[in-house]
Amino acid sequence: MDDKFTLFNLKVEVVGTDQPMVCRHKEGDYFLVIGEDLIFPETNSFSMYALSAILPLLPAKQRPLHANDWMLSDSLIACPDPNCGARFKITRIGTKEFSHAECTIEPIHKGDQP
Ligand SMILES: [Zn+2]
Repeated sequence: MDDKFTLFNLKVEVVGTDQPMVCRHKEGDYFLVIGEDLIFPETNSFSMYALSAILPLLPAKQRPLHANDWMLSDSLIACPDPNCGARFKITRIGTKEFSHAECTIEPIHKGDQP
């Protein structure tokens, strides 16, 4: 039985606004999200406070969403420091296929969708 499923890969990039950044963000810094992995190909550091604001949205952005779902339209996350002008832009950058069996030992869900 085919147990494959597909997730979007994500890029999360620091973008500026007309308000100065008071944290140590640098415009253009980014990390990738592929499956459960956060990948920092060039960025050596990333604010844990900013990361805490971004993390809850990532699993939803990896998955297909209803066209009316605000999680689909909203892709710009503010820095949790109210004095900081940084924003973090989440972009879908392709897909990757995964195997259910390689992600969990739980059986594939057979019931109705709640
Ligand atoms: Zn900030």
